[in-house]
Amino acid sequence: MRPDLLELLVCPKCHAALTQDPQGLQCTGCAAPYEVKQDIPVLIPDDVNTEHFDEEQNLAQMMKSREQLPEEQFNLNQWSLSKREFWAMVRSIATEPPKRFVNIGCGFDPSCTEFERLGHTFVNLDLVFDMLANLRRDCGATSCVNGDVNSIPLKTGAFDYVVSIDLIHHECERLPELLGSFRDLLKPKGTLFLEDPNAWGLFQMTKSIFMPRFAYRSLRSAYHTFKRSTHRPADYEFPTNVWRVMAILRELGFENIKCYPHTAYPTVSERSYRIYRSLSGSEFIRKYHNYHYMLSAVRA
Ligand SMILES: [Zn+2]
Repeated sequence: MRPDLLELLVCPKCHAALTQDPQGLQCTGCAAPYEVKQDIPVLIPDDVNTEHFDEEQNLAQMMKSREQLPEEQFNLNQWSLSKREFWAMVRSIATEPPKRFVNIGCGFDPSCTEFERLGHTFVNLDLVFDMLANLRRDCGATSCVNGDVNSIPLKTGAFDYVVSIDLIHHECERLPELLGSFRDLLKPKGTLFLEDPNAWGLFQMTKSIFMPRFAYRSLRSAYHTFKRSTHRPADYEFPTNVWRVMAILRELGFENIKCYPHTAYPTVSERSYRIYRSLSGSEFIRKYHNYHYMLSAVRA
């Protein structure tokens, strides 16, 4: 394991530093031992939420086995365009290397390699070990950490940039705590880049605002069963509200909170997309009523 990665790791239980020995890693505070598998430190706490843990493994498996059906091509293109727009925002703000990035809940996102090539340190954190092992094997990502967002095993105040894509709606019951922990990872004046499905998306808004959660959940589950969907959301996932997230960021002391326009609109049919396009001459719609919202915010 890279020595500069070891320096950034802490015990997920007591947040003390870790030392490396031939058996793996050991906490200098509570003496808990941790495994290192395929050069990836496994820093999952004992009290990890097992419902989320099992479900996230299932979701990862589903994503991997996702068939490239011709009728899904439009949607897949929209997803990749959305990713490209997100990383273009990051590139437009990130300054000269060497800087430290962390992508929390990275999944299989090979964008890390571009930043590593430029000379940045780029840590990939995910709950699903296999995602990281693939990222390492297929893309050569050098700094992967297997950990849980509810007890992030990384040093606070150590990162210039924190990235989180499509993650926070998996923990929508505890947004202030989660976003607070992202802030704590940042150095002063460090930037958070956030993307999440928007409860105020043009085609999500009515359901999100007017439908009780249990009804939303049942309807969604029935839809995905009927469609035999390969990307079925977990029951605890709900889109987050861009306005509420910006308000929480302000309360947490973030400054310069900016929302960016999106052209891509995944998860809808080509016909619905044409409706979106006809309305998206308005930048307001592309920023606040897209399927995703895309934000940057600076730690004070
Ligand atoms: Zn410890």
